[in-house]
Amino acid sequence: MNKIPPFDLSEQFKQIGETINAAVLEVLASGRYIGGSVVEEFEQQFATYIGTSDCVSCNSGTDALFLALKALEIGSGDEVITTPFTFVATAEVISAVGATPVFVDIELDTFNLDLTQVNAAITDRTRAIIPVHLFGQPTDMTRLMAIAQTHNLFVVEDCAQSTGAEWQDKRVGSIGHIGCFSFYPTKNLGACGDGGAIATNDGALRDRLRRLRDHGRRGAYYYEELGINSRLDAVQAAILQIKLRYLDQWNQQRQAISDRYQQLLSLVPGIVLPQEIPGGKSVWNQYTIRVTQQSELGNTEPFRDTLRSRLQDRNVLSMVYYPLCLHLQAAYKELGYQPGQLPNSEQASQEVLSLPMFPELHPDQQAQVAYTLKDCLV
Ligand SMILES: *Cc1c(COP(=O)(O)O)cnc(C)c1O
Repeated sequence: MNKIPPFDLSEQFKQIGETINAAVLEVLASGRYIGGSVVEEFEQQFATYIGTSDCVSCNSGTDALFLALKALEIGSGDEVITTPFTFVATAEVISAVGATPVFVDIELDTFNLDLTQVNAAITDRTRAIIPVHLFGQPTDMTRLMAIAQTHNLFVVEDCAQSTGAEWQDKRVGSIGHIGCFSFYPTKNLGACGDGGAIATNDGALRDRLRRLRDHGRRGAYYYEELGINSRLDAVQAAILQIKLRYLDQWNQQRQAISDRYQQLLSLVPGIVLPQEIPGGKSVWNQYTIRVTQQSELGNTEPFRDTLRSRLQDRNVLSMVYYPLCLHLQAAYKELGYQPGQLPNSEQASQEVLSLPMFPELHPDQQAQVAYTLKDCLV
C-alpha cells in the first residue's frame, strides 16, 4: 500500500503549475519584487473575497497578528484573552507586544473558545479577545461580538486556519475589528513560502497597518513610529492571486472529504468525529477526531499515541495538533498555570488526531484510512 500523507502540496502544483510558473516568470522579468501592483491587486482581491473594505498584506500570519495588536495600541500592562489550544503564534504575539495572554478553556466538541467562560476572565486590564477559528471551524461570532461590545474590547480574529469559513453568511475575518490570515503553504490558501494578510473595514487602521508593516514609515525616510519589516513578496502575491481563484473549489473538496469521513467513520467506537456548529461553515483545514478509547491499565501513554504509531506502521500518516497546551508550555512557565486548570484543552491535547486532509485526497485513499483506523482500534 502507498503511504497516505497528512497533506500533499505536490498534487495541487501538478494542476496549476504551468499558470503559476508563467506568473512567477512575469514578476521576475518585471524587476519589481517587493510591493507594487501585483501585491496591491492581490490585496484588493482578497478584501473582496473576505468581504472587507481593506486588506493589508504582510510576511506571515504571525506578523498579521502582531501588527494587529500594535495597530490597536495593545502593549505593556494590557491583557488579551485567547485559547490555549492553538498554534503558539496566537499567544506569542500577545507577549511580543508586551501584553499578557489570559487563557480561557475551550469547548471539547468544537475545539474553540468556550464563550461561557470568557466573561469571568475579563478584568479592567483586558483590551482584546483573540478567537481562533481552529481547524477551519468558525467561533460563534455573534455571541463573541456581543461580549466584546458589552466590555468595550477589540476582537482580533485568528483566521490562519479558516480562510473562506463562514459565520452566518459572513466570512470570518470580516466580523471582528481585524481579521488575521496566514498563507503558510499548508493553510487553505497557501503561498509557496511565507505570507499573511490583515483584513479590516476601518480605514484608519488600514493606514496604520500599512505604515507598521514598513518600519512605521511615512514618506521616503521619515518615521512617525517604529514598525517592522513585514511585506509580502510580489512573487508570492502573484501565486496567491492565482490560487485565490481556486479557493472555493478546494474548500468544497475539503467539505466533500469531511462528509465522506463522516460516513466511513460514524458509529466506530473509541473515537469522536468533529461536528460543525449550527450557523457556521467550516473549511476543514484539518479533519480532527478525538480518540477517547483508553490505553490498557498500566500504560500511561495516551491511546491516541499508540493508535498514531500503529497507523504509521501501516502507511497512514496522521498529525497531532497540539500535543501540549500553551498554558503548560515551558515558555509560559512564568504565567503560573497549573495542570488541570483548563481541563477541556488538556483533554483535547491528549485525544486529538488529525487524519489526512487535502483537497486532492482520493476516495480510495480515504477508504484505506478508514479501514486501517478501524483495524488499529481493536
Ligand atoms: C499558522 C498559524 C499561525 C501563524 O501563521 P504563520 O504564517 O505560520 O506565521 C497563527 N495562528 C494559527 C492558529 C495558525 O494555525
